[in-house]
Amino acid sequence: MKTKLTHLHQKITRIAGTNWGLNKDLRRRLFKTVAERMILHGAAAWAYPLSARQSRLINSIQRKFLLNITGAYSSIPTAALQIPQLSPFNTVFQAELLAIQEACLWASKTNQQIKVWSDRESSLHSIASIDTKSPIAQQTQEILLKSTNIKLGWINAHVGYSGNEAADVLVKKATQEGIPTFIPAARNHIKSLLQKESIIRWQKEWDNGETGRSVHNGLPKVKTTPTPWQRPEIMFVTGHVLFPTYLKRFNIRSSDSCGCGKLGNPLHYATSCMFTTSYHLTKPSADLEPLWWKRVMNNNNSRAKIKKLIHFIAENETLLFPKHGDNN
Ligand SMILES: [Zn+2]
Repeated sequence: MKTKLTHLHQKITRIAGTNWGLNKDLRRRLFKTVAERMILHGAAAWAYPLSARQSRLINSIQRKFLLNITGAYSSIPTAALQIPQLSPFNTVFQAELLAIQEACLWASKTNQQIKVWSDRESSLHSIASIDTKSPIAQQTQEILLKSTNIKLGWINAHVGYSGNEAADVLVKKATQEGIPTFIPAARNHIKSLLQKESIIRWQKEWDNGETGRSVHNGLPKVKTTPTPWQRPEIMFVTGHVLFPTYLKRFNIRSSDSCGCGKLGNPLHYATSCMFTTSYHLTKPSADLEPLWWKRVMNNNNSRAKIKKLIHFIAENETLLFPKHGDNN
């Protein structure tokens, strides 16, 4: 097929010259209707899976046609049509900016009026912005200041301008065989990496820490957004303020037991105290306690019950914790 298409290419060129004597739209239509159909004919049968060699071959066939369609000079060495290949930590935004910069750099060496088109508004905005943080955009601004023959413009990506489509083909090509090029990772990219890393470390500390273990059971995953918990749930999960176990620890009471005689911690009131039976949840076996906290705190019905329980305890303190255990 390569031979067939090369012949077709030579024939058209011989008959019509390098731009085939036609305007861009017609050239594009010619490629679409004749050559592309020849390439795609029976493609379903042979195109999948495409070997690296096959895909290189198709690229090299397409390149000839691309040059004619776009009006790029075929004397441009292959290297000039090769696009830098970036690292995985670079963003599409950086790639697009770099492409614009390369185009401006090339245009700055000629005296012709040249218009550089991009279908990415964000890149153009960044170049037009006086306080852009992107070094590539800043360098491009410098080129544009010195070279008044270059103009930038936006085109719609979905209208099918042949030059823009040709650029897309070249971009795909660059991901496979571009010249490896180093540009530092973008600010925002590094920022999000650091955020992820700090969450991982925070999570490790939270998992292996010694304090706040009952809270850890209810909230095993760290996150930067506040929990939807309200004060009652926080009191319950931390065991703070209301409970005899807490009051004893801070010497507000001399005993940590409930009025019923058992240890007065949150689990006691939520599952077994005889004074709070209307608010009871199922009692977990000792080894399933962490899981119980997690389930309870993530279940809306259980949390609603916990809220009522906390209100009940707050209102009936004197009943639940008899005065004789008090320090006052
Ligand atoms: Zn009790």
